[in-house]
Amino acid sequence: MPTAVIWFRDDLRLRDHPALQAAARAGFAPLPVYIHAPHEDGGWAPGATSNAWRHRSLAALDASLRQRGSRLHVFAGDSLATLQAIAAVTGAGAVYWSRRHEPAAARRDEAVRRALRAQRLRADAWNASLLFEPWQLETRAGDPFRVFTPFWNAARRAWSPQAPYPAPDALPEFDRLPGETALDALGLAPDIPWDASFWAHWTPGEAGADAALQAFIEHGLHDYRDGRDRPDRPLTSRLSPHLHFGEIAPWRIVDAVAHAGPVEERAAFVRELAWREFGVHVLHHFPQTPDANFNPRFDDFPWAAPDPALLAAWQRGRTGVPIVDAGLREMRATGWMHNRVRMVVASFLTKHLRLHWLHGARWFWDHLVDADLANNTLGWQWVAGTGVDAAPYFRIFNPVLQARKFDPAGEYIARWVPELRGLPAKARHAPWEVPSGSRPTGLYPARPIVDLAEGRASALEALKRIRVPV
Ligand code: FAD
Repeated sequence: MPTAVIWFRDDLRLRDHPALQAAARAGFAPLPVYIHAPHEDGGWAPGATSNAWRHRSLAALDASLRQRGSRLHVFAGDSLATLQAIAAVTGAGAVYWSRRHEPAAARRDEAVRRALRAQRLRADAWNASLLFEPWQLETRAGDPFRVFTPFWNAARRAWSPQAPYPAPDALPEFDRLPGETALDALGLAPDIPWDASFWAHWTPGEAGADAALQAFIEHGLHDYRDGRDRPDRPLTSRLSPHLHFGEIAPWRIVDAVAHAGPVEERAAFVRELAWREFGVHVLHHFPQTPDANFNPRFDDFPWAAPDPALLAAWQRGRTGVPIVDAGLREMRATGWMHNRVRMVVASFLTKHLRLHWLHGARWFWDHLVDADLANNTLGWQWVAGTGVDAAPYFRIFNPVLQARKFDPAGEYIARWVPELRGLPAKARHAPWEVPSGSRPTGLYPARPIVDLAEGRASALEALKRIRVPV
């Protein structure tokens, strides 16, 4: 049987895997390969948290392959040269992979495809991560979408449900190949286990993704529309890292929720999945946006000079604003932050502290298990007011009102800011308003690092210095 190399990257699963399916259809024996080349494409290199997840996800993939008689063949080095060497040694007739949509990775993949084809190898890629390829939907004028709602309407018009596809039962075994290395040798898992607290919250891999989906269908979906904004309640799916690493196909998620829960709740959830698609659409069409404002008028915005002390206070969750600190500490302890709180901490950084959104985007990139170039960029530029379909810069979240509304009993704050647990629930949102005698002792800042009213006023003043239509 001729061999097809299956080049795994962010598609770490065996079900719903178009490249594996294509190899089977063409009568190829699939040879599963992972090549560690984090800096090769010149894009944003993965952060430490992302690497820690990847290590476990690759181990889970390897275990699933072994259950079927195969295993993951791991290499480190230049992707093209490694694929060429594997093809030469195995006599493979094809190299198949799942498309990546980050601009730098997509460019690299295209170069790999051409080089392999020039050697008369079959080199093909499939969509394994999206409901719609980023080039599939366009406005009536044939342009990319810059606003989510019309994108979503076009998506619904073009919708064609895709059925889930099972994993292969058995896979062929291959001998050890020259140059193979061990997963543990890649340095993905940290030497000092700073990530130890993560794994009570997560199970990387296909089975973990499935468990998260089932738990969400049982406990979250029925109240998703209101519940999704409540960081104190576990009502969102927490599927984002599983989706990022391709441990589950979005169409499998859509299929699973299609018959579960009330129709309005299902629709609200699928709409959020479409935001993820919108992020990839925007990144594909505006590849400069991870590093540059989508709206160039903000190029002249007077961002504050980065004050290392202020930035460090934000990063470490020591701003003295409890909901902000809770979010940043949740992220450091679990690798994830609730979406509502992501918006609040991002608004605080870019507006109250008036620091450039890239400071926050980079911090998130290093600390999120779901760090994703498309969605991190979309989220940060949205909150900062610099992006497509963005919240205008003058909409400044009041972190105290946000906390009162979405964490009414201060439970989320108490979970992540233990210094405030001794305060009555209502006082946790703004502890500086509590008479000083009854304030918690301990090291929590007595006042916010910036006066909230002054920070807001100064942000609005700065906005007047650039011409942005409102
Ligand atoms: P659910 O509410 O269960 O949603 C289901 C899925 O829909 C998510 O897993 C995600 O894939 C998608 N989704 C939900 N909300 C959004 C959204 N606002 N934008 C895009 N996709 C969405 N998401 C990432 O996956 N990676 C990031 O790096 C990232 N960075 C962000 C940065 C900022 C400043 C902000 C405001 C948002 C960011 N998001 C990012 C989007 C969102 O916060 C997360 O996708 C969401 O919190 C994941 O939790 P969940 O899986 O429980 O979401």
